[in-house]
Amino acid sequence: MHVPFLIIGGGLSGLAAALRFARFLPDVLLLEKHSRVGGLNSYYYRNNRLFETGLHAITNYAPANTKDAPLNRLLRQLKIKRRELDLHQQIQSEVRFLGRESLLFSNDFALLDTQIAAKFPGSHTCFQRLLELIENYEPFRPAPFISAKKVLQETLGDKLLVDMLLCPLMYYGSSLENDMDLGQFVIMFRAIFLEGMFRPGGTIKDLLDLLLDHYRKHGGSIRTKAAVSRIICSGKKVHGVKLADGEEISCDYLLSTIGSDETYALLNKPSPLESLPRLGFVETIFELSPETVLQGSENRTIIFYNSSETFSYQQPQKLVDFASGVICMPQNFQGLPPSLFKEVRTTHLASYDEWLKLRADQPSYNSAKEDTALASREVAEKILGNFSKNIVYIDTFTPLTIERFTAKKQGAIYGNPVKIKDGDIGYDNLFLAGTDQGFLGIVGSMLSGVSIVNQHILPRL
Ligand SMILES: Cc1cc2nc3c(=O)[nH]c(=O)nc-3n(C[C@H](O)[C@H](O)[C@H](O)COP(=O)(O)OP(=O)(O)OC[C@H]3O[C@@H](n4cnc5c(N)ncnc54)[C@H](O)[C@@H]3O)c2cc1C
Repeated sequence: MHVPFLIIGGGLSGLAAALRFARFLPDVLLLEKHSRVGGLNSYYYRNNRLFETGLHAITNYAPANTKDAPLNRLLRQLKIKRRELDLHQQIQSEVRFLGRESLLFSNDFALLDTQIAAKFPGSHTCFQRLLELIENYEPFRPAPFISAKKVLQETLGDKLLVDMLLCPLMYYGSSLENDMDLGQFVIMFRAIFLEGMFRPGGTIKDLLDLLLDHYRKHGGSIRTKAAVSRIICSGKKVHGVKLADGEEISCDYLLSTIGSDETYALLNKPSPLESLPRLGFVETIFELSPETVLQGSENRTIIFYNSSETFSYQQPQKLVDFASGVICMPQNFQGLPPSLFKEVRTTHLASYDEWLKLRADQPSYNSAKEDTALASREVAEKILGNFSKNIVYIDTFTPLTIERFTAKKQGAIYGNPVKIKDGDIGYDNLFLAGTDQGFLGIVGSMLSGVSIVNQHILPRL
């Protein structure tokens, strides 16, 4: 079989790339290892109910009239109408450093600005200078690493404020331990604080189905349960792929969205990239009965918390670091119809290596998962009030779960800390998109898929 354009990976970057290409030519085939698309942001069924694997909130909210906003540009590139998405904005989120300070923010930036003026009066003028820097910075220009932490410390001069601003941006978009590149900081600051967060009215399945429907309408093809086991190439030219069942498919152009090291492995080449620690996470879903009232959450959509003196964003030495994390209430978005269940979702940093030690011993692994859910619930209850008696169902994903279901090396959601921003991994007709190209999150990974097709594939046709 021969196809002009072949894509490995049916996550959000692969789907967006496939749809973008199919708008011009239907000769595109998307290969996904699993039975379902979505990758890191997919869904599964338990007790006849659909659970989202990843979705807390989508960043980069933009009103319809901001034509140049990333969300609106993305929708235009994919020819999807805003009303097809049914966008619901967050109510209000919070950065809470327990016993120290709290900052509220929403999709109206004035809230965060007022909070900083009231709680960090000595730094408010400096914060305006930071905003000017963010407004004028060109984050997509190739540049050597600049430490965002250092720039923030120099600009704001208040360590607590620096940590409180970095906490949500790191949790939702940093593959690097304890710092961010300034460009990535600017992207994430705009995405979370200046633009804001939303979710679609339906589930992630509805969003994935919408993308698939559009893709198929343009004539694009997809194969699930089609794991690529090898990329066939000679020198710098790729000829096609070999699937796990032995079938070979040749192509003119190949796009890989599975990660840089993962792609080098399919090429049977050692990765030339520097090896830095990858960040692992555990995620626990607490499904609650509909009558649950979360006393302490007061309609918060997401709470980014930290309970230790210094905010640390790094791979822990133990299974899980509960000192900081994310607590999300996915029902707390404006205008969502009342759902049959409520949820609390928690995220904490976790060590892949420590979880790996338990893999061979299933009872110990299961009991560590139970302990994790218990400890995470206790942390969340300190903030939300007691909800344990209302729990209907609990599930915990470890870095091993994420590795198993997405083939992401070490289950690292944000992939390799070394990013390949132009998607060029040194081959004539093979390019990289998605997490390891450097755009993180749902909108980021979709923009990545679209921009690599625009930059490298469409101009060559
Ligand atoms: C628990 C969790 C919570 C998250 N919460 C949010 C959130 O609230 N908001 C947000 O914006 N983002 C969130 N994210 C991040 C977001 O999901 C990702 O950044 C984004 O989906 C990455 O998409 P991708 O296409 O780059 O990669 P992936 O989703 O990893 O897609 C790669 C795909 O390639 C497939 N694949 C791998 N190897 C092969 C092979 N050999 N052959 C064929 N197919 C292969 C995989 O199965 C996968 O489907 C979350 C992620 C997780 C795990």
